[in-house]
Parts: sequence; C-alpha cells; structure tokens
Amino acid sequence: MIVSLHVATGAAAGAASGSRVAALLLGPILHLAGDRLPHQDIGSRRFEIGSGLAGLVLLAARRGPLDPATIGAGASSVPDLEHVLPFLRPHGRKLFHGRPGWHRSGRFPAGLQLLLAGAILGALVAPPSRAD
Ligand SMILES: [Zn+2]
Repeated sequence: MIVSLHVATGAAAGAASGSRVAALLLGPILHLAGDRLPHQDIGSRRFEIGSGLAGLVLLAARRGPLDPATIGAGASSVPDLEHVLPFLRPHGRKLFHGRPGWHRSGRFPAGLQLLLAGAILGALVAPPSRAD
C-alpha cells in the first residue's frame, strides 16, 4: 500500500484511540493489514517517501509531534523503512515484508489510495469547527 495511506490510516487510528501507546501498537498491525489488501503501488520511491514525510510533518505541525495521531502515523509507516535502509534487514530478510505472499498486488488503485490519504489527513489537520 502506498506510504501516504499508511500514514493516514495510522493517524486516524491514533486519533480515534486517543492513546499514544495504542497508537504505537496499532501502527504496525495496520501496516500489515494494509499491505494485505490487494493494491497497486507507486513505482516512484521518491514520491512515496516525499508524500509520506509530508503527511507526517503536517500532522506534527498541526497536532504536535507527540499527538496520538502523529505517533500512529509514524508507527504505521515505519515498517516501510526496511525497503530503504539496509541495516534494518541485516540478513537480507525483511521483518515486515519478508513473508512470501503477504504483500498483495491487486485492484485498489494508487490514485484512489492517494485521494483517501489526502481526505483522511485533511480531516485530521483541519482546524476544529467553532460553535460561536
Ligand atoms: Zn509495507
């Protein structure tokens, strides 16, 4: 699943749980669940990293770096770091992506994932509506 949607779903779970610990624990589980959905990926690593980081920075700026939403976003996107940081897979085996057949390619379009990610993140960083 694309990185920015991992960021967004982790953030939503963190915000819904309201707990930093829950956000930390739910993140990687959501990551695995997301990769399990038959989905399209985006071939550009640069875009993946850039859009994921943009989501994290936005959450940290608007809700604070220690907000459960921000922590959930980080926790659910961090498993993808093993694709880019070789020291996270010392024996060449990936912890989150090493199980054959887990990561599924399929129909969930990358464009729709991106749209969803934007909608979720937009809702999470929107200023609270004022009732005055
Ligand atoms: Zn993944």
